[in-house]
Amino acid sequence: MSIQLVWFRTDLRIDDNTALMQAVKAGPTIAIYIATPRQWQEHNDAPIKMDFWRRNLQCLAENLKELNIPLCFFQVPVYADIPQLMQEIISDWNADALHCNTEYPLNEVKRDKAVKALCQKLGVAFNGYEDQCLLPPDFVLTGDGQPFKVFTPFSKKCLLLLDPMGSSGSTAARQVKTMEADNLNFPLLDSQLNLPEISWPDPELWWQQQWPAGEQEARQRLNAFIETRIEDYKSARDMPALNGTSSLSPYLASGVMSVRSCWQSASVKGDGESAQAWRNELLWRDFYKYVMHHYPHVSMNRAWNSKYDSIPWRDDQEDFQRWCHGETGFPLIDAAMKQLQQCGWMHNRLRMVVAMFLSKNLLLDWRWGERWFMQHLIDGDFSANNGGWQWSASTGTDAAPYFRLFNPIRQSERFDAEGEFIRSYLPELSGESKHTIHDPAKITANYIAPMIDLKYSRDRCLAAFKENQ
Ligand code: FAD
Repeated sequence: MSIQLVWFRTDLRIDDNTALMQAVKAGPTIAIYIATPRQWQEHNDAPIKMDFWRRNLQCLAENLKELNIPLCFFQVPVYADIPQLMQEIISDWNADALHCNTEYPLNEVKRDKAVKALCQKLGVAFNGYEDQCLLPPDFVLTGDGQPFKVFTPFSKKCLLLLDPMGSSGSTAARQVKTMEADNLNFPLLDSQLNLPEISWPDPELWWQQQWPAGEQEARQRLNAFIETRIEDYKSARDMPALNGTSSLSPYLASGVMSVRSCWQSASVKGDGESAQAWRNELLWRDFYKYVMHHYPHVSMNRAWNSKYDSIPWRDDQEDFQRWCHGETGFPLIDAAMKQLQQCGWMHNRLRMVVAMFLSKNLLLDWRWGERWFMQHLIDGDFSANNGGWQWSASTGTDAAPYFRLFNPIRQSERFDAEGEFIRSYLPELSGESKHTIHDPAKITANYIAPMIDLKYSRDRCLAAFKENQ
C-alpha cells in the first residue's frame, strides 16, 4: 500500500483543497496536523484565533472521518522541531509521499524547506501545491518578468489571467466529495481522533456563538452574503454600523473556505459594480500574499519602502496603551478599539482609521499596532495585517501617500453619521446626539479628553516624514 500523508496547515477544509485531493488520488491517505504553541505565541496569534482553529480542527476531523481519512494530531513547541517529528511520522506509517498546500510567510517557507530536504533524504516525495491564492504569486509578473509593486496593474493582470480559467477552481472539491469512503479501503484510526493535551485557550461561549466553526458555516455565510447583501456592498462596505461586508475573513485566514469558492460565487452575480468591488478585495488579499512572497524583507520587521526605516517613531508606552484600550478621547477610534477587544474583529474602514491615528497622529511605530492587532484578531493573517499597517503608515508598497491623514472626526461624521456604531461600543455616549457624538469638543457627557491636538499632530507627522523623503 502506498501511504500518502496530507499535512493540514492554513487550509482546514475538505472542500476545494488541492493537497487533499492529490493525496487521495494517489492512494490511501492519512491526514496530519501539527500544533506548535510556542511558535504561535512568537507569531502573536490571538487566543480567540487559536480557539477558532481548535474548533475548526474538530470539524475537519469529523469531515475527514466521513471520507474514511484519519486526522492525527501532533504537538511540538516550534517549527524547528517539525523535521524530527516528521521523520518519525513518515517511518511509523512507512509513507511514500507528503502533500501540503504552500504557505508564503518566511518562517513557514523555512519550515517547509527543511521538511522537503528531509523527504529528499528519506526518498519520500514532497508535493507542495499552490492553493492559497487565486493565482500563484510567481504566475503574475510584469511584461519584463518582474513582480508588480502597485495594486492596480497587478489586479488588471490577475483579471486577464483569471477570466479564461472560468470556474475550474472547485474541481478538487467535487472529486474529494464524491469519493465513497469504502473506496479508500483504509482502516479508521479512531484512537487518533482526539485532540492531545495542547494548551489551547479557554473557549468562551461568546466566541463560539459569534464565530461558529466549520465549512458549512462558512458556506452559509458566503451564500447569505451573495444572495442578500453583495449588491449593496459598494455603498455599505464603509459603514461600520451596517452588516455591509461578508465577515468571512476568519474562515479565509484559516483556510476553512477557499478563496476560489468566494471568487466563483461572486462571479455568478455577474459584473455589477458591487460584485466587482468585492472581488477586488479578494485580489487585495492575493496582493498582500504576493508582496510577502516577492519582498521577504516585509517579514523581517522592516518597512517595504526602506526610506521609512528611519522615521523617528516616538517611544511613548503610555500613549500606546491609551490607543490599545480605546481611551484616546476620539469616539470613533475608541469604539473601534473596543470592537477589536470584544469581538476579535474590526471593520475594515476602522482598521485604516485607527492604524493611521497610531502611526501618524501619535507617531508611534506601526509595528506596535501590527502586533496588537495580531494579538487580538480572529482573522489575524501576517500578510493582510502587515499590508494594511504598511498601507496606513505609508511605508508600504502602493501605500497611502505620507501626507494623507484621516481626520478621525471627519471619518466619524462621514461613515457613522448617526453615531450608531459609536453608541454600541461606548454606552457612556448613548445620550449624545448625532451632532455632538463625533467631536470631542462638542460631547456633552463627561468623556475622556482628547489625547492629542489633531492639527499639531498632523504637522509633527508631516515634518517627520518629510525628513525622510
Ligand atoms: P470583506 O469586505 O467582505 O472582504 C472579503 C475578503 O477579502 C475578506 O474576508 C478578506 O479575506 C479579503 N480582504 C478584504 N479587504 C482586504 C484588505 N484590505 N487586505 C487584504 N485582504 C482583504 N484582513 C485579514 O484577513 N487579516 C488581518 O490580519 C487583517 N489586518 C488588517 C490590518 C489593517 C491595519 C487593515 C487596514 C486591514 C487589515 N485586514 C486584515 C483587511 C480587512 O480589514 C479585513 O480582511 C476585512 O475587514 C475583513 O472583513 P470581511 O471578511 O467582512 O471583508
